[in-house]
Amino acid sequence: MKIVIFGPPGSGKGTYASRLVNKLGVPHISTGDLVREEIRNKTPLGKQIEKYSSSGTLVPDAVITDILKKRLTAELSKGFILEGYPRTVGQAKELEKITKVDVVVNLNVPDSVIVDRLSSRLQCKTCGAIYNSKTMPPKVAGKCDKDGGELFRRVDDQPEVIQERLKVYQQASEPVIDFYRSKHLLKDIRNEDPSVDPEKVVDQIAKAIKQ
Ligand code: AMP
Repeated sequence: MKIVIFGPPGSGKGTYASRLVNKLGVPHISTGDLVREEIRNKTPLGKQIEKYSSSGTLVPDAVITDILKKRLTAELSKGFILEGYPRTVGQAKELEKITKVDVVVNLNVPDSVIVDRLSSRLQCKTCGAIYNSKTMPPKVAGKCDKDGGELFRRVDDQPEVIQERLKVYQQASEPVIDFYRSKHLLKDIRNEDPSVDPEKVVDQIAKAIKQ
């Protein structure tokens, strides 16, 4: 199955996508993780795109599409859960040229929940696992439950950058919802209560995908 998981920053896309991997048996591809990997490895591309990521703006469509293609091509026969792409209608059209998508999950989360969630988000430096100091804390403060890696706060999870990312989402990414709705590919998931166990939301998403 070829699945896109879509929603504003902080809607839980990464958390749910990584948990869906076990349920659905397809790999999780996150363009945000691919971008951070380029930056961490200080590649020429990483140096070129760091300014976008740290300011919460979008990497140009052609550049991010190339980054995605390098990774996605290997997975086309297995299927995938794609997270963080497409983020513009232009990218959605590019994706159509690469492959046909079976379903697009649209996470609906109020802005107040997003800001609160991103302000307390933590990520493992080694494996990328996501935690939340308020709602999903690690067993040992500052350490990943899976591999003991150091937990860090993303540079783009600072309050001013969060506001910029929400603005970018509304202007550039929301039109993607109508693009997929008109193609009857969209499954809406309401996720208004941040205290709900993520596993319950994952079950709800898995059910919607199979319908
Ligand atoms: P994320 O982890 O999905 O929030 O992505 C982190 C950052 O990577 C974003 O703020 C963008 O700068 C960049 N990025 C990731 N995916 C895309 C995309 N599909 N289009 C443009 N920029 C992207």
